[in-house]
Amino acid sequence: MGLEKIGRFKDTDGTEKFVYKNDKGVIEITWLKNKSNTDVFCIPTHYYCSLGCTFCHLTSENPLSKGMKPITLEELTEAFNESLKFIDRKQKTVFSFMGVGDSFMNKELIVDFYETMRTESSGLALATIIPRNEFKYFTQKVIEGNIPLKIHFSLHTPFSNVRQKLIPYTDVSVEEALQELCNYRERTLTEPMKKELLKCRRSADNTEIHYTIIKNVNDGEAELTELIRLGQKYKIPLKILKFNPTDGLERSEKEDYWFERLIEEYGAPGANIGSSCGQFTKKYYLNLSEGEEKEFSEWERAYRISQ
Ligand code: SF4
Repeated sequence: MGLEKIGRFKDTDGTEKFVYKNDKGVIEITWLKNKSNTDVFCIPTHYYCSLGCTFCHLTSENPLSKGMKPITLEELTEAFNESLKFIDRKQKTVFSFMGVGDSFMNKELIVDFYETMRTESSGLALATIIPRNEFKYFTQKVIEGNIPLKIHFSLHTPFSNVRQKLIPYTDVSVEEALQELCNYRERTLTEPMKKELLKCRRSADNTEIHYTIIKNVNDGEAELTELIRLGQKYKIPLKILKFNPTDGLERSEKEDYWFERLIEEYGAPGANIGSSCGQFTKKYYLNLSEGEEKEFSEWERAYRISQ
């Protein structure tokens, strides 16, 4: 079955979503229009995700109960080209694989899609919760193709034992993951690569840590102290993400305090805000409660701009 367009949605800040479905599931492409001359597209690697992260909007309420299928190059290209019909593109583009699924589990899609869509000024990014094994693949491809790939590691707690509970699919300790990121940076961040990265970005870094602060889960003093220690040791830029509450998990009230401490002691954490994984897409996979269904319908009515 071919792709069917579910709709096009626009947020008040201009961010747009293009949502499609086929017989495997849903593909959601998000177009972020930042103030610079760059379009950023957030792209999923999978239909659904069954990795069961406890803070995830998609699987926290129903972990591991549904299949997780990789999106193919043909399917993604079709969805992206369809979306492009409605997009007035800027000069520069970043393809950012940070939607549903884990990038390290569909690695060929990321490199092949980038090679298919690559222009003179286009960057590539991915996020992963399981940084292991596939580093070798990405390192080799990045060096061979001079691909400006930035790898974002979804950390979310500096303690390996807690992380194992939050992200049950992980099988790597925090320090092993950070060391892998450092190795990737060391092998790939050459002077020509820095120039390539700067074509679409403000900094020439190609690694970053993501941390979402969640109330009473990972916002304690011990976590902050350990995060600062790791920052000073590995010197990987940190981005704090705002948490969009799920059933039972709330946004931390300590965000401002964390920002102050981190800016002083870790280095500048980016203040960018991302909406949480699967928050939109779960409507198409899970049985929503009456309240959630109402909330989604209101959101859909408010922001849909076309079919
Ligand atoms: S947070 Fe991402 S990797 Fe984890 S279950 Fe959700 S979609 Fe999957």
